[in-house]
Order: sequence, then C-alpha cells, then structure tokens
Amino acid sequence: MIAVLRIGHRPDRDKRITTHVALVARAFGAEKMFVDTKDRKLEETIRSVCGRFGGDFTIKTGVSAKTILTQWTGFVVHLTMYGEKLDKSLKKIKKNNDVLVVVGAEKVPAFLYEASDVNIAVGNQPHSEVAALAVFLDRLTEGKWLEEKFKGKLMIVPCSRGKKVVSGKRKKGENL
Ligand code: SAM
Repeated sequence: MIAVLRIGHRPDRDKRITTHVALVARAFGAEKMFVDTKDRKLEETIRSVCGRFGGDFTIKTGVSAKTILTQWTGFVVHLTMYGEKLDKSLKKIKKNNDVLVVVGAEKVPAFLYEASDVNIAVGNQPHSEVAALAVFLDRLTEGKWLEEKFKGKLMIVPCSRGKKVVSGKRKKGENL
C-alpha cells in the first residue's frame, strides 16, 4: 500500500498544488493521502473526482504529521532535493513494504529528515512536489499504475482525436 503525506499545506496559497498532489497520488497508484491542515474544500474536490472516476482513494485533512509518522509501520520516504539519488534509494525499499511518501510545500520541519527511513531526491535541483511525486511513484510502481482499472461511473476511452467518455455502468457482457 502506498500513502502520501502532504506537509505544510496552506489552503489559501496551495489550493491548486495540493489538489494536483492528490490527483497524482490517486492516478499513480497511492491509496491514501493525508494533509496536515484541515481543508474541507480539498476533501470535497478529491472525493468528487473519486465519485465520478472511481477507485478506492481516500483523503484525510487536518492530521498531525508527527502522529502519522509515528503510527506508520511501513517504510517512510521523504522527497526532497537534498536527498539521495533516486536509483540508489529505490533499492532500499522492499517489494512488499507499505510506503508513506512525504512531500512538503515550503521549507519542511527539520525533524522530517530524521523521521524518514530515506530522504530521496528526484534530481538534486529544486522543482515541484507534483513532479517529484509523479516521477517517484512511476519508478516505485515500475510503471504498473498505468494499467490500473478505476471502474468509475465515468470511463475515458483512449482515442487518437476528440474525447470519448462512457458510463462505467455497463450491462453484463457488454464491452466498451
Ligand atoms: N526547499 C525545498 C526542499 O526541501 O526540497 C523545496 C520546496 S519545493 C517548492 C516543495 C516540495 O517539492 C519539497 O518539500 C519536496 O517534497 C518537493 N521537491 C522539490 N524539488 C524536489 C526534488 N528535486 N526532489 C524531490 N522532491 C522535490
């Protein structure tokens, strides 16, 4: 199981970025997201996406990061540009480990570097928590997130031009 913990979320400033962190988490194979600041609007937005497009992704805001980190029994990965190289660090994560991936907003609290099993850099240049999370989850799942079936009320049919969206509620035996 993969979960994501977002630290330092400021509902007024980080609305879009944290929404994108959650959307990437859901689409790229995580099952849960925790956010350290209460944000009902963010919860509503993500639950609405899950309601329409499916999947078992859950989001909980207003959690204590320290409590989540203390209670997590699996492996903790902190994504930071100051961390170790991605290829080297991925080898430290066992195949059957539950993984909690922590991403920050602005400067993260110092305790996080010690509380994590590994601090991983997705390249040692500053960029974005959205990009860092997407690349990391792609590598962690070895691209398997692409094959995940969400079985939503709405299902997008891949097509070379235009948009094709069908109802996920199909009759028995009916193919898309
Ligand atoms: N000074 C911050 C730091 O410690 O990485 C950069 C803040 S950045 C706007 C917000 C978040 O994006 C960071 O907390 C980190 O989780 C993620 N991030 C940014 N660049 C990254 C990189 N090269 N590798 C991994 N994570 C990165």
